[in-house]
Amino acid sequence: MAQGKIIKVAGSLIVAEGMASVRMYDMVRVSSHRLIGEVIELRGDQASIQVYEETSGLGPGEPVESTGAPLSMELGPGLIESIFDGIQRPLQLIRQKAGDRITRGIEVPALDREKQWNFEPRAKVGEEVAAGDILGVVQESPVVEHRVMVPNGLSGKVRDICQGQARITDTVAVIETDDGSEHKLTMIQRWPVRQGRPYRQKLFPQEPMVTGQRVIDTLFPIASGGVAAIPGPFGSGKTVVQHQLAKWADADIIVYVGCGERGNEMTDVLKEFPELHDPRTGETLMKRTVLIANTSDMPVAAREASIYTGITIAEYYRDMGYRVAIMADSTSRWAEALREMSGRLEEMPGEEGYPAYLSSRIAEFYERAGLAVCLGKDGRTGSISAIGAVSPPGGDISEPVSQATLRIVKVFWGLSAQLAYKRHFPAIDWLLSYSLYTDNLAGWFTDNVSPEWNELRARTMRILQEESELEEIVRLVGTDALSWKDRLTMEVARSIREDYLHQNAFDDVDTYTSLNKQFLMLRLILEYGEKGQMALEAGCSLSDVIDMPVRERIGRSKYIPEDSLDYFKEIETELASQATALINRGGM
Ligand code: ADP
Repeated sequence: MAQGKIIKVAGSLIVAEGMASVRMYDMVRVSSHRLIGEVIELRGDQASIQVYEETSGLGPGEPVESTGAPLSMELGPGLIESIFDGIQRPLQLIRQKAGDRITRGIEVPALDREKQWNFEPRAKVGEEVAAGDILGVVQESPVVEHRVMVPNGLSGKVRDICQGQARITDTVAVIETDDGSEHKLTMIQRWPVRQGRPYRQKLFPQEPMVTGQRVIDTLFPIASGGVAAIPGPFGSGKTVVQHQLAKWADADIIVYVGCGERGNEMTDVLKEFPELHDPRTGETLMKRTVLIANTSDMPVAAREASIYTGITIAEYYRDMGYRVAIMADSTSRWAEALREMSGRLEEMPGEEGYPAYLSSRIAEFYERAGLAVCLGKDGRTGSISAIGAVSPPGGDISEPVSQATLRIVKVFWGLSAQLAYKRHFPAIDWLLSYSLYTDNLAGWFTDNVSPEWNELRARTMRILQEESELEEIVRLVGTDALSWKDRLTMEVARSIREDYLHQNAFDDVDTYTSLNKQFLMLRLILEYGEKGQMALEAGCSLSDVIDMPVRERIGRSKYIPEDSLDYFKEIETELASQATALINRGGM
């Protein structure tokens, strides 16, 4: 192992000499405290090292020891329900051992070594296996089955396989490779965090990740395996949106990476997340969640690593064949850490002081998402949907992190402080937001929801856009300039906003809307618009159309429970008969 010496300390960056034999991204141990660091620049025999722990009190001359391996993490049973910091130190276990603050250089393994798991074999003795094949499973939590896979780079014949209670460090299978050597496998794999995990093939996602949130699913859907960004002006309802996605999105596993700047922001997440109830399983949401948390008392470097730690965990569960949703909050804080480290390295700064490689780093993160055919002979698929929050200073998305993110992601949910101020929630601005998946998902919606779906969606968007144009006219020359038809359009747009897009996360029924119900609700509102149009043409007044009694029921249709969707037929019938009566009267 290379042994060097510190020659300079600058915050969480140290420079050491005598490091000729180390490689980029090797993990090192710094000083007698054995602080964890990573080589991020090499010049001759000098290495710049990003240290993931507090460096105060460190000085020149202290030893730096290379571990000869890149910064890696442990993957295995016990990840679920864990709360880790950016370099996978288990915060709960550390707290038990050392109290609230992380003691420097503390060595606690990421995954619990003592816990017994009930290993059920899936592979048989004599079977040929290769990377990604499932050797056995353990019930990791009441809702997650952990699939123990043959690690990358290994193939051969199963010589022995265990059954029953085992710790993660116990041998659960013995594989004999072609050259006759035997490999004992445990339930732990190690993986370098900066390297994407292999898969067989990436596929273009063709199915939505249904979230039950109407503005998202209907207007700006994300694909299962898709990438989205959401800006987070303070108070705009970002936390509620993220909690709703975590609870309701059609995903098996949730990985939440919190890079809060202020300590209390993260403490909130650490307090709130474990209390969230999982409506699908009746358990707490943590039973299928992994949390990565950086609080402000951790050095910025750990924040930089956290995003890789998170996506590596997401890939690991994808490889088991799960649909994973990863949320990173916020990638702006992560980019700031990148900027700070780059500054300390005295690299040439790019726009607003961010390093020139900012865009490529952001791209690398999102590119690890996607729908993939996994390794393993069963041909299973798994997906990672990535949702990154950006928090541009002052809410101005023309800054470099937002811009680099928008070039990569395919969905943008633009939260608007104005809508939040008007208490329109979720405050996703329909004029600002977009989804580039809509065309690819159109076929799926036609087959699985209704052949009318895409048409309804397009009409809804048109009405909302028309509304904003009409509002502009009203602002300039007043309502009188509008035709009756235009005024009706504004009325329908209002109904779309208030009766459809507005969704109360805290109402038991309204909190989640199935696609089927979304379709029925939207069709009802647009049907009202059409019938109203016909009534106007037949000579009815706008107020007659606006005052149709059925509208009250349309407005309340969001509260119709999922098991009573037949009720929509009744409202449709009522709408039709009231409209007919009106048209007949108007025509007289
Ligand atoms: P942020 O995280 O952006 O600061 P929050 O997510 O905490 O904002 O939201 C602020 C407040 O807005 C919440 O406490 C809640 O009262 C309200 N709110 C946000 N989203 C919704 C929603 N979908 N339904 C009802 N109320 C909401």
